[in-house]
Amino acid sequence: MSANLHPATIAVRAGEDSQRPHDVLAVPLQFGIAHGYPDVDSWEQVARGDVPGPLYARNTAHPTALALEGKLAALEGAAAAVAFSSGMAAISGTLMALLRPGARVVAGKDTYGGTHYLMQHTLPQWGVHVSLCDTTDAAAFEAALAAGCDVLYLESPTNPMLKVQDILRLAAAAHACGAIVVIDNTFATPVNQQPLALGADLVLHSATKFLGGHADAMGGVVCGSTALTDTIRHYREIHGACLDPMSAFLLLRGVKTLALRMRQHNANAQTLAEWLQQHPAVARVNYPGLADHPQHDIAASQMSGFGGVLSFELKGGLAAVHHVLPRCRLLLRAATLGSVDTLLGVPSTTSHVECTPEERAALGIPGGLVRCSVGIEDSRDLIADLAQALA
Ligand code: PLP
Repeated sequence: MSANLHPATIAVRAGEDSQRPHDVLAVPLQFGIAHGYPDVDSWEQVARGDVPGPLYARNTAHPTALALEGKLAALEGAAAAVAFSSGMAAISGTLMALLRPGARVVAGKDTYGGTHYLMQHTLPQWGVHVSLCDTTDAAAFEAALAAGCDVLYLESPTNPMLKVQDILRLAAAAHACGAIVVIDNTFATPVNQQPLALGADLVLHSATKFLGGHADAMGGVVCGSTALTDTIRHYREIHGACLDPMSAFLLLRGVKTLALRMRQHNANAQTLAEWLQQHPAVARVNYPGLADHPQHDIAASQMSGFGGVLSFELKGGLAAVHHVLPRCRLLLRAATLGSVDTLLGVPSTTSHVECTPEERAALGIPGGLVRCSVGIEDSRDLIADLAQALA
């Protein structure tokens, strides 16, 4: 396929041609997990990785997952991608594959709760030194990087406070000290933000979210150079968190409409953010598309759309959250995001379920915060439902 296709076309077509036997239109869902070759020599060539081909679903990946990997690599502008069984499997697999005892990681304090747990507990247990900086203080990152770093880990925008990091500036500082730059692009998606073009080395996703888009399949992916992804693929082979065929099929189908969905997610989130901002019951709205968002200018310079997630703080605090959420009739309550449905959640049941109330407070996550993953419905219906619930 031509190298200069646009994201909407890549989302529909990339990665599929080599996995469509007899030119069948849709990539088949194949449940078989192992393959054989007519003679041992050609079989060994595939097993050694000298010739591409399926072998066993845990090492070379399953044909349906291979199509997904090809599509997601193309969407992120990467040479290759490795699919995992969940976003956390992609994040932990990537970090464990790259790090060794004694290695140093620099990251922001605001990352998805599971990632934050990994940074605070799991990596230190394996002898990795983790420096957590104020997420939006680029100078603090630069100082931490200058003290030595192997992996700079970014998440932008962050879950659930929608803070934005300056990818270009931080990637340059990381490369100056020889670090590998990894970024979680789950909230933005490759339609809204292309981190590799801004200097990142690896981009990862919870594919469970916007990439799949329908809250019916879990998966994760990491995209980057062949050298880095080969190391990570080998880690996946040995540690086993590969993507199952059914999820690969559902995610592949979901990604086809990514560009179309993101247009509507972006537009609806902007409309809802502006509406919530003027509502008397709302103390604050966090959305990078709002002109008064503290990093709006950085977001505007590195994102082509501001994404489908926002969060807002109710003036009545936690008691108001308990009052409002059950009163929503159209908006759903769920511990995920990125679906075609609009979903509400609170950090204690979603992004930061692993943290104690004290830890959430220390991270600056207010008790009265509601995260809203804005779907693709008609925004007038979303506003009407929120208006009656907030009243
Ligand atoms: N990264 C971000 C930004 C997330 O919001 C999540 C989950 O909510 C993850 C990673 C983890 O993904 P998964 O639930 O697919 O393991």
